[in-house]
Amino acid sequence: MSDSNNKLTTSQGTPVPNDLNTMTAGKNGPALMQDIHLFDKLAHFDRERIPERVVHAKGAGAWGYFEVTHDVTKYTRAKFLSEVGKRTEVFARFSTVGGEKGSADTERDPRGFAVKFYTEEGNYDLVGNNTPVFFVRDPLKFPDFIHTQKRNPATNLKDPDMFWDFLSLTPESIHQVTVLFSDRGTPNGYRNMNGYSGHTFMWYNEKNEYVWVKIHFKTEQGSKTFTRDEAGKLAGDDPDFATRDLYNSIKDGNSPAWKVYVQIMTPEQVEKYRFNSFDITKVWPHKDAPLIPVGRMVLNRNPKNYFADTEQAAFSPGTVVPGIAPSPDKMLQGRLFSYHDTHRHRLGGNYHLIPVNAPRVSGEHSYHRDGAMRTDDNGAGGPNYWPNSFSGPAPDASYAEPPVPLTGVIDRFSFDLTDDDFVQPAALYREVMTDTDRANLVSNIVAHLKNAQLRLQKRQTALFYKVDKDYGERVAKGLGLPVDEIAKLAAMTQEDRVKATA
Ligand code: NDP
Repeated sequence: MSDSNNKLTTSQGTPVPNDLNTMTAGKNGPALMQDIHLFDKLAHFDRERIPERVVHAKGAGAWGYFEVTHDVTKYTRAKFLSEVGKRTEVFARFSTVGGEKGSADTERDPRGFAVKFYTEEGNYDLVGNNTPVFFVRDPLKFPDFIHTQKRNPATNLKDPDMFWDFLSLTPESIHQVTVLFSDRGTPNGYRNMNGYSGHTFMWYNEKNEYVWVKIHFKTEQGSKTFTRDEAGKLAGDDPDFATRDLYNSIKDGNSPAWKVYVQIMTPEQVEKYRFNSFDITKVWPHKDAPLIPVGRMVLNRNPKNYFADTEQAAFSPGTVVPGIAPSPDKMLQGRLFSYHDTHRHRLGGNYHLIPVNAPRVSGEHSYHRDGAMRTDDNGAGGPNYWPNSFSGPAPDASYAEPPVPLTGVIDRFSFDLTDDDFVQPAALYREVMTDTDRANLVSNIVAHLKNAQLRLQKRQTALFYKVDKDYGERVAKGLGLPVDEIAKLAAMTQEDRVKATA
């Protein structure tokens, strides 16, 4: 911490008389062990790096607030949502996914969109993306999927064969692939993109009545994207474009803002819905579940120190407050474990005590004790076990989540590929995209897929054809593939298609 009298100290707070000349035995002699300051400085420097996030390594963050604009108390008892006009401090972190910490901000990738709300009932994290869907819908597939987006283990190069092999063997990815290869895969900075929870969550009210929700952050700056050429040029000219854009706009008093909405389905609607409402590869169409306004997020303060705030910020979809709970979405269930676990690895078992992660109002009143970097009073002299009769913190049954009915058997159920998987990317291609969007989508795919093996090009192009004939034909033509062969592959089952392109 900088001292008001501006005196340089060691890490132990003692004054440093000289920070340019190492203590040596004689003018040209060797350094002395007793130069404690030298060793302190070198040893700390040697330990400056913490593990890079496996995903979302490159990011930018900012402080701000969330304000409730509409009454949603009939849906949730969350206190931070209890009153119109109520403000809650937030810290948001935006990121690319696959690239390393030094990678370019404009690479084609989904963008992370994570927000920590410091509520009076503890922290709530919304850990979303700028796309409403995801590539896979079972967490067992997640590490494999990410490996294919990273580097080839032998060459250490990004590998189009790995990338398209996995995606074409995992057709549930087709919706997200279509979003990713549209120009929304190269957003114009972090301010100009939407955020989506993607996953469904439960909201429950004071009476323990519950609904299922998806959360949407709509940028007030307007959704703006780069073309492939613009993004590629910036990757060379200004690889930190999005980081700089966010920082400078806040510094200049131009605070970016998002309107926050929820889509709601009742348990009865979910029961009868035409597809699994907890499938992360699908959206809830707006006509079935319209956007209901909730509030507004404004980011108006840059971190004073990048590492302290942005790098150490640790978000988890499992960090929820009373009134919000997870849904049975399988991908979400996997993330509930994985996020906390990765932070324990990256930052340590007491990562929740780091100021950016520490709850503000309620503090922590638990029976967790000890561990590396325990920086609070560690429960002081209070009891370290429960139950106790020494006035230790007690559970409060009034916070119990609503019971959710469940029947069935334990098994490993597959989410079989069905025609439903192609309906939503088809709607996106046919009804949402403009002619320019479609032309850019095809061109972006061709520019990437042409680098994969021919059999992978064919297998993947057949999936585009299954979404929409025009989509598949245009990709096929762009790649110089025979359209009739693609049409035949598209008509096959996935199993036969894989055999035919083995
Ligand atoms: P709507 O016409 O009501 O909504 C279309 C949505 O698509 C808008 O939210 C729009 O975002 C978004 N969008 C526009 N261009 C793209 C793009 N290139 N990539 C991704 N999203 C884009 O239609 P439906 O709700 O019936 O959904 C139709 C299709 O739109 C879906 O199958 C899905 O692919 C896509 N979509 C749907 C969303 C949803 O939650 N229902 C959310 C996002 C996409 P914006 O408002 O910023 O322009």
